[in-house]
Amino acid sequence: MPITVTLLSYLVSSVCCIMALRGLSGPETARNGLLFGIVGMALAIVTTLFLPGVHSYGLIIVGIAIGGSIGGVIAKKIEMTNLPQLVAAFHSLVGLAAVLIAGAAFRNPGAYNILDSGTGLIHVGSLVEMSLGVAIGAVTFTGSIIAFGKLQGIITGNPIVFKGQHMLNAALGGVMVLLIVALCLTQSALLFWTIVAIALSLGILMIIPIGGADMPVIVSMLNSYSGWAAAGIGFTLQNNLLIIVGALVGSSGAILSYIMCKGMNRSFFNVILGGFGGETAGPAAAGGQSDKQAKIGSAEDAAFILKNASSVIIIPGYGMAVAQAQHALREMADHLKKEGVKVRYAIHPVAGRMPGHMNVLLAEANVPYEDVLELDEINRDFSQTDVAFVIGANDITNPAAKKDPKSPIYGMPVFDVESAGTVLFIKRSLASGYAGIDNELFFYPNTMMLLGDAKKMCEGIIKAFEH
Ligand code: NDP
Repeated sequence: MPITVTLLSYLVSSVCCIMALRGLSGPETARNGLLFGIVGMALAIVTTLFLPGVHSYGLIIVGIAIGGSIGGVIAKKIEMTNLPQLVAAFHSLVGLAAVLIAGAAFRNPGAYNILDSGTGLIHVGSLVEMSLGVAIGAVTFTGSIIAFGKLQGIITGNPIVFKGQHMLNAALGGVMVLLIVALCLTQSALLFWTIVAIALSLGILMIIPIGGADMPVIVSMLNSYSGWAAAGIGFTLQNNLLIIVGALVGSSGAILSYIMCKGMNRSFFNVILGGFGGETAGPAAAGGQSDKQAKIGSAEDAAFILKNASSVIIIPGYGMAVAQAQHALREMADHLKKEGVKVRYAIHPVAGRMPGHMNVLLAEANVPYEDVLELDEINRDFSQTDVAFVIGANDITNPAAKKDPKSPIYGMPVFDVESAGTVLFIKRSLASGYAGIDNELFFYPNTMMLLGDAKKMCEGIIKAFEH
């Protein structure tokens, strides 16, 4: 393939990737965004296969067939609630790829055109790019494996902390920078592999102190790292597309981490140095509330209240995703709409376990986009609303975020659901949410708890409507 065709093809592919990100920023355009992403990636792979450096196709085709089949099967089978750990697992592969490519280029620099023809040594610029790529790649590799283990429950979700941990991490980071300088001066293989070993350890040490509740932010941060690692390797391979796409992934991952931190009113350093959340979330954490009495209702009670309302705001949370209640919920909302009730959905930026989690589920159930509103758009309307219908959400409604300066979620923007006439709260127990803290809203005089699985409860309410 002539070089101009290759460059043009890479340019089109880069534009497709930019359009993909643009499309994915809103639910209406997300499908087109995905299509752009698929076309961009397919074009990138085909163009790369026709590069003059590719001499044999056998192993490449076998690799694509094996990797593609495994990826296809996993993507088909994965539950929505397990997406964060899947993303973490895939990032680990990007990190590993960066380490392997840098290792191959260091061992056989001639094959990568990075040798100085005069001295016969590797260009210093290439060494800097390679060592940065390999260091970030190795941190991403082990960090993502730890994140996967924590999210999958293989490793404890509790923060693993010890004295002097942050000092040790800072010292290892400093040593790594010194070794990169020494590598550029000596080109020693021992130094190269020592950098890899330190970066692998740093990936583990950086992620173990982070609690379960902050893991989605960390997965997004590792996503950003994997992009920068790919961009670094793009320089070594002199591949413009890899540099552009790596930088796109790197910057979008960083922006996503920022959005999540903003949604929780936490600083990024607070997350990195944190130790927030973890396995404290669960029934035991609700112990402080055991002396209080909550008003418990049934599906029939809820149906009666909902039918007599003129406006309802639905607040979905992680529990809706666990129960896969979105279809039953939409059916319930359709019944209400037919009765003339105004029904809207309120989405918190950190509802569920990743940004956009609730939007994807509601779109899957064909909830009209115009009924779905963001926190800032709808929060003022609760005081003029008859029923706030909280389904599988908890932390994002917790008044402690507004009232209790000692609460770990103090300052996080939350829905003012308590200002609605009645709060109907579907969850299975009075246990805490992911942040592991009690929610006094369960005991407010205008709250009725509907204890049970979210999907079954919605189906019960629909049945009650029909009778
Ligand atoms: P929460 O984790 O606070 O609450 C979810 C609730 O769902 C639980 O209390 C649980 O209660 C209930 N639940 C679980 N399964 C079911 C079921 N089958 N049927 C009915 N209820 C169920 O979720 P929220 O969405 O309110 O808040 C998100 C949390 O995740 C916040 O703390 C946020 O900071 C954090 N987070 C989110 C990120 C994001 O990007 N979205 C990123 C980082 C953190 P019970 O066990 O009693 O049923």
